[in-house]
Order: sequence, then C-alpha cells, then structure tokens
Amino acid sequence: MTRDQVFEFFRRLAEANPAPTTELLSDNPYQLLVAVVLSAQATDASVNIATRPLFEHIKTPQQMVEFGEEPLRKAIKTIGLFNTKAKNVIALSQALIDRQGGEVPRTREELQELPGVGRKTANVVLNTAFGEETFAVDTHVFRVCNRTGLAPGKTVDEVEAKLEKIVPQPFRRDAHHWLILHGRYTCKARLPECWRCPVIDLCRYKPKTPPPEERVKSSGARSASRGSSKARTAKAPTASKPTAGRSRSPPSRLP
Ligand code: SF4
Repeated sequence: MTRDQVFEFFRRLAEANPAPTTELLSDNPYQLLVAVVLSAQATDASVNIATRPLFEHIKTPQQMVEFGEEPLRKAIKTIGLFNTKAKNVIALSQALIDRQGGEVPRTREELQELPGVGRKTANVVLNTAFGEETFAVDTHVFRVCNRTGLAPGKTVDEVEAKLEKIVPQPFRRDAHHWLILHGRYTCKARLPECWRCPVIDLCRYKPKTPPPEERVKSSGARSASRGSSKARTAKAPTASKPTAGRSRSPPSRLP
C-alpha cells in the first residue's frame, strides 16, 4: 500500500470506532498485565468470565501472592493452559514485589523479564496501560496485515517491524486495537466479511467474500446446476434402456 492508502486505511477504521480499547477487563496496570498473560491462546471473553469475580478482591501483586497458586488455579480453570498460567501469575506477582516494589514496570525489557510475559504481552501493557505507541501483533493483527497487504511478513516480529515503520500519526497509539478489532469482527479468519468492510477498496486480498444473499443465490444456482446434470446423468441410462428393452422385448412377444 502507498502512504496515502495506509493513512486512509486507518482513517476509516478510526472513523468507524474513534475510541478503541482492549476488551479485557481491568482496573489498573497490574490487573491488565495478569489478564493479558491469561489471554494467551484464549478468548478475551473467556478471560473476563474468570477475572471478573477474581479482580473484585485481587488488585495488587501482594494480594495475588497471598491468594495463592491453588485457589488461583481453581479460579481460572475455565481458561486454557490454566495450570501454567496460574504458576506464571504467582511467579510474576512475586517478581513484581521483589524487583519493582509491587509496581508494573514501564519498559519492554523489564516486562519481558517477568515469568509468562513475552513481547506481545509487554506491548499490550505498554500501549494500553501506559499509552506507548507499541504494536502488539496477535493472530488477528498478523492475519489482517498479511491479507490486506498493509504490513505483510512471515513472522510476527516482521509484521511488528513493518507496522512500526508505516503507521502514521495520529493513528500510532490505537493502531493495534483497530487491527485486532477489525480482525476479530470483520476480517475473520475463516470467512472475512468483505461485503461490509470499510477498507474493501484498499485491501489487496483477491477472493473477496460477497454478501450473504449473493452467496445463497450462487450456492442455489450451483445446486440447481448439479441437480440438472444429475438428472442428465440419470436420464442417460434410461435412454439406453428402450434400446435394450427393444432388443429384449421382441423375443418376449414372439411366442
Ligand atoms: S476486504 Fe475482506 S479481506 Fe480485505 S480487509 Fe476487508 S474483510 Fe479483510
């Protein structure tokens, strides 16, 4: 995409959703960090179901450590990989107490030193809790950037580096939210909803999905044509039957 197209791409996403943010529930940077760690390979909705009651009582690393690993395991057992995640959350909470005075650090390096915190988690926390212009590349962002041609790359690091380079102001701070939400609700993995996509003319993905009514029509037409060809196939042997019949019937009438 050209610079102007990239600008227009984000301008339209921004117009449709002027104040995007994460769908993970949290009241402070610590809760956000925990929620993001829990959201690895899980949906935000499933994380919120578990954290809504948990976060009513646990707002600091100290409270989490006092709560303990086993109760935490039970509280998050509906989330995938809950055993490992419970271990990591207790360990990162202890590390925050020991190394950061209970505060969530504001640098990527310090965040990534915490148990269970990778680059993507660090980027989400830096962006959402502290307003940094970071680009967290999850599965949705990766797909949208590659499909559209906005920031193609073979790895998440490549896509992140391209986004760093091409996303213009005033969109840099919220770009990753727009891309996540666009991928989650419009440019879906199995069937992108191109017919209602605000950036359809800028996107280079070729097999654009038509509106549902057109797909119904064309699948109806396909089954009709399958039906008529079946009918033709079915008729073919019938047509030959009279011949066979004729060849057999004279003898039956002869006697
Ligand atoms: S046109 Fe389709 S493939 Fe392209 S961004 Fe929109 S939904 Fe995704």
